[in-house]
Amino acid sequence: MKRIILLTLLVFTMNTNAQTDSNVILVIHGGAGTILKKNMTPEKEEAYRSKLKEALQAGYAVILNNGTSSDAVVAAINIMEDSPLFNAGKGSVYTNDERQEMDASIMRGSDLNAGAVAGVQTIKNPINAALSVMEKSEHVLLTGAGAQEFAEKNNVEIVDTSYFRSEVRLKQLKRVQDKEKMILDHDSDRGAVDSSEDEFNIDYIEDKKFGTVGAVALDKAGNLCAGTSTGGMTNKRYSRVGDSPIIGAGTYANNETCGVSCTGHGEFFIRNVVAYDVSALMEYAKMTVSQAGNEVIRKQSMIGGKGGLIALDRNGNVSMPFNTAGMYRGYVNVNGEIRIFIYEKE
Ligand code: ASP
Repeated sequence: MKRIILLTLLVFTMNTNAQTDSNVILVIHGGAGTILKKNMTPEKEEAYRSKLKEALQAGYAVILNNGTSSDAVVAAINIMEDSPLFNAGKGSVYTNDERQEMDASIMRGSDLNAGAVAGVQTIKNPINAALSVMEKSEHVLLTGAGAQEFAEKNNVEIVDTSYFRSEVRLKQLKRVQDKEKMILDHDSDRGAVDSSEDEFNIDYIEDKKFGTVGAVALDKAGNLCAGTSTGGMTNKRYSRVGDSPIIGAGTYANNETCGVSCTGHGEFFIRNVVAYDVSALMEYAKMTVSQAGNEVIRKQSMIGGKGGLIALDRNGNVSMPFNTAGMYRGYVNVNGEIRIFIYEKE
């Protein structure tokens, strides 16, 4: 019994890992998941850190030049969408039938306006389409062909689906499918799953990392904005929509409380209405952004929802809790000082 209590305490402590800081004007994530130092080469780690830095610099430059928080969010996310390292835009993962279907959303804290697209296959930067929906339509969420047509009409760059094609992502899909078939077979044969850490398993775990990207910015006018962009989850059923384009689940912003962008197993983030919950805890329970972020991730752990979030309040306080092994994340403060983290203990 004592061991169980100790274990539970340990899990909760791990689950509420968070760096906190103030004077932050832009915070980003590049996905949470099974990101372990032992599976990382120094080169790969450096590649991630430098791309995150580039994204922070791009967003920071917008704010420094008196741009809006929405433009800063888009600028930061575009850098990550254009990189094959992240599961968004160029690096999007495959569905069960080898399509790449992307979701994105953006929300403004000043007037609670929001825009999102889901299941798009030809929009180079889905976050730009989400911005167009927010700024140029009376709607919040457009899906599939209609979203693509709307984006094209509003001068958002359209590309051929071959732009997103990736051998690496196809191999990941194959490994995930093989592994999942094996798990099913084992389950029905013997009621057990092979958990030995052979190369196949390590690759499988690595493939299951989520890798969505997101950003929350606070501009000079004091307006918050949050955005999220993703290819979803490897081997998701085609047409499946995750939390990332769902306002309140994957993304939320309100100048009275905070801006939030989530990453992780989307179904759980939808069920717990995670992004809005952070804001609601601040609004109704008067929690700080850090308390609210930790509480929401604790609740996620209770239902088995793996992932994390970034949140920024209107005073520049940041929170980045997660319950996975790692989360690509970082922020820049008002003085241009950048901090980047990958693993749990940093
Ligand atoms: N939340 C995303 C989804 O479920 C995946 C991720 O965050 O990487 O589609």
